[in-house]
Amino acid sequence: MARPGMDRYLARMNAPVAVPKPRKPDWIRVKAPTSEAYHSTRRLMRDLNLATVCEEAACPNIGECWTKKHATVMILGDTCTRACAFCNVKTGMPRAVDPLEPEHVATAAAELGLEHIVVTSVDRDDLPDGGASQFVKVIKALRKRTPSTTIEILTPDFRNKSEAAVEAIVDAGPDVYNHNLETVPRLYPTIRPGARYYASLRLLEGVKRKAPQIFTKSGVMVGLGEQRLEVHQVMDDMRSARVDFLTMGQYLQPTPRHAKVAEFVTPQAFDAYGAIARAKGFLLVAASPLTRSSYHAGDDFRKMQEARAAQLDRSNG
Ligand code: SF4
Repeated sequence: MARPGMDRYLARMNAPVAVPKPRKPDWIRVKAPTSEAYHSTRRLMRDLNLATVCEEAACPNIGECWTKKHATVMILGDTCTRACAFCNVKTGMPRAVDPLEPEHVATAAAELGLEHIVVTSVDRDDLPDGGASQFVKVIKALRKRTPSTTIEILTPDFRNKSEAAVEAIVDAGPDVYNHNLETVPRLYPTIRPGARYYASLRLLEGVKRKAPQIFTKSGVMVGLGEQRLEVHQVMDDMRSARVDFLTMGQYLQPTPRHAKVAEFVTPQAFDAYGAIARAKGFLLVAASPLTRSSYHAGDDFRKMQEARAAQLDRSNG
């Protein structure tokens, strides 16, 4: 007996389920960079042979930041010894450390007229100190060449390196020490396999213990499949390490080879995360879809200074 309705029903049920690729929502779209200031920042970085995380990580904010001449310099080359599932920086055996790099970073800061600079690096597990001494040289070169520029560093975890490596950086006296936890501990094996959550937390805690005047900062990406309560726990862990500043942004898949976006977190959900983080006692919180560790870093540094001054005023009376 013909049963066209039933056949259609069965065909529909047995058809492969097309899993819709999450479309980038409107709040993620950004304009392509076109300004003259953007191009001159780009030329300067090329001329000085400097890599930037803005380009290597395919950051969506590059048009806005470079137009304001705010670039995050990536030292120790453009090749990383790890292969995190979220990161677009190329992996492999890096080249030898460039001895001219510290001077070039200082020249970039001077020519761009930077009040605040963010310096980060690739992971250099191949170097005995993980590249810590190059951070020290960059900080010293900046202090000498542009003494009024405030310095923010965003470092790797220096896993399996001696504590002296991180201590040398802290002794060099950056204004802000940033190290990102990136995601919740449950997702480390897939997202950040070369790192250990508690080792990263200990690094942040150690920096604050050694130099309480240095602002500490850490960030997480959301949209990787984490649960809300897991994010709240990360906030608590950061507070127990006395982290001053939390940044939270949406994870974006840089290429099809990288971890997929599990969810586009709405701006309202970011606001809710921000409110909870503030209630947990961070000095400053930046939580929005396009927040990145170095986004608006100069303005945020001044906000942290003001927040700390206000806190001291309150505790003095
Ligand atoms: S947010 Fe940071 S990484 Fe992105 S373009 Fe701006 S400075 Fe560069």
